[in-house]
Amino acid sequence: MIPFPISEQSPVAFGGPLPSETDVVVVGGGVIGVCTALYLARKGRRVVLLEKGRIAGEQSSRNWGWIRQQGRDPDELPIMVEANRLWTELASQTNVDIGLKRSGVTYLAESEKELQVYADWLPHATAQGVDTILLDRAGLKARFPELAKGGYAGAITTPSDMRAEPWVAVPALAGIAVREGAVIVEGCAARKLDLEAGRITGVFTEAGRIACSDVVVAGGAWSSLFLRAHGVSIPQLSVRASVGATEPVHLPHQGAAGAGKFSFRTRADGGASLAAGGFHELFVGPDAFRALPKFRAQLMADPFGTRFLPAAPKGYPDAWGTKRQWDGDEVSPFEGIRVLNPKPNAGKLRKVAVEVEKLFPEVGPIRYRAMWAGMIDTMPDVVPVVDRVDAIPGLTVGTGMSGHGFGIGPGMGRVLADLVCGDAPGHDLRRFRLSRFSDGSAMELGPAL
Ligand SMILES: Cc1cc2nc3c(=O)[nH]c(=O)nc-3n(C[C@H](O)[C@H](O)[C@H](O)COP(=O)(O)OP(=O)(O)OC[C@H]3O[C@@H](n4cnc5c(N)ncnc54)[C@H](O)[C@@H]3O)c2cc1C
Repeated sequence: MIPFPISEQSPVAFGGPLPSETDVVVVGGGVIGVCTALYLARKGRRVVLLEKGRIAGEQSSRNWGWIRQQGRDPDELPIMVEANRLWTELASQTNVDIGLKRSGVTYLAESEKELQVYADWLPHATAQGVDTILLDRAGLKARFPELAKGGYAGAITTPSDMRAEPWVAVPALAGIAVREGAVIVEGCAARKLDLEAGRITGVFTEAGRIACSDVVVAGGAWSSLFLRAHGVSIPQLSVRASVGATEPVHLPHQGAAGAGKFSFRTRADGGASLAAGGFHELFVGPDAFRALPKFRAQLMADPFGTRFLPAAPKGYPDAWGTKRQWDGDEVSPFEGIRVLNPKPNAGKLRKVAVEVEKLFPEVGPIRYRAMWAGMIDTMPDVVPVVDRVDAIPGLTVGTGMSGHGFGIGPGMGRVLADLVCGDAPGHDLRRFRLSRFSDGSAMELGPAL
C-alpha cells in the first residue's frame, strides 16, 4: 500500500516566518482556513494562517473530492453554488492542475421511498437554478445504463457538480493565498488567545506571541477543544471515515456516484476513490457524552450509520486523557498530534470493493493501492458554525462542516472573510449561528442528503 501523501514528515512548504503582528490570525490550514486567508488577503487585510502540521494534512486532503451542490441543506446551497463558480475561477489562477472536472454527481435510489426523498429535495435545486434531474427507473436506464444494471428504483443527478484532487487542490489554493499576501506558517500550533478585557489582542503560538485584533478558528476536528479552553462551547464531534484509492481501473461510470453501501469517483491518476457512503465510526469520549443529547435527532434519523468505538487513540481531540485546559506558555494538545492520521477500516473498504465489483462485473477484481481515514468534524444538525462570537469580540468561527466542507470551502472562506471585516456576506447565515446550541432552539435536521 502506498503511504498517504501528506504527513508530518512532509517537507514544510509554507515556512512563514511568524510575524510579530498582523490584522487577522487564521487557526487551521484546511480548505476553510486557507480560503478564508485567501479572501482576507484579497480584501487587503494582513493575515497569518497557523497550521500545527501541514496544509491540508487532515480532512481537507483525505476527503472524496466531491464538489457537490446536490443534496445540500437549503441554506448551504446558495453558498455552494457560489463555491462552484469560485472553484472554476481559482483553478484558472493556479499553475497547478487540481483535477477539477465537471463530471456530475449521482445518488442511486434503492427504493421508491428513497427516490421520493430525492424528489422532495428537487425544489431547492430549482430555486437556485441548479441543473439537478430526477430519474425514474426508465430514465436511469436511458441516461446511465451502466448504473441501471444495479436494479435501482431511480436516481437524482446533477451534471454541473464537480470533483477535484484534494491533496493537490488545497495546497494549490494556499499557494494563491501566499502569492496574494497571506503568510502561512506550517508546524506552528495556536495555543491560546491572548485576551485583554475580554477582547482579542493576540494569539500565543508555540513559536511565540503574535499580536492581532481578529482570529478565525477553522481548526476542523480540533475546533471545539480550542474554543472550549476559552469558555465557548460547541457540540462538535468527530467521526472516522475511511477511503480507498484503487489501482488504475476503468469504471464504466466516469462521474461520482453513491448508493446505500458504496460511493465512488474516478480519480485523475486513473484509479477510483471508494468509500462506504453513510457509514462512520465514533470514538466515545467526554465530548461525546456531553454532546450526545443534541445528536439524538441525527442518530434517530440514521440509527445504523454510526458505529461506536470505546475510546479514541491517545492525543485525539476527544480522547479521555486529552488536556482540556492549558496556558499560552504551555505545550498544548495541538502539538501532540501534528497530522491526525486514523487507521482506516480495511475490512469495510474490502466490502465496498465487492459491491462495486457486483455493479460492474466487467471491470474484474478491484485492487486498492492506498487506504486512509480522516476524522470528520460534525455538528448535531449537520450544518456548520459560521459566525462571530459575541462573548469574545474579534473571534470568528468557521467549523463543523459536517462531512461536506471540501466542496463549499471557497464559498465559506469568502463569507468568513466578509464576516471578519464586518461586510455583508451576501447570504443568510442565520442557520449557521453559534447561539442555536444555547438559545433553546430545537436541533433542526435539514433535508441534507
Ligand atoms: C473521508 C472523508 C470524505 C469526505 N468527502 C468529502 C467530499 O467528497 N466533499 C466534501 O465537500 N467534503 C468531504 N469531506 C469533508 C471535508 O473534507 C471537510 O468538511 C473539510 O475538509 C473541512 O475543512 P476544514 O478546513 O474545516 O478542516 P480540516 O481540513 O480538518 O483542517 C483543519 C486544520 O486545522 C489544523 N489545526 C487545528 N487546530 C489547530 C491549532 N490550534 N493550531 C494550528 N492548526 C490547527 C489541523 O491540523 C488541520 O489541518 C470528507 C471528509 C472525510 C474525512
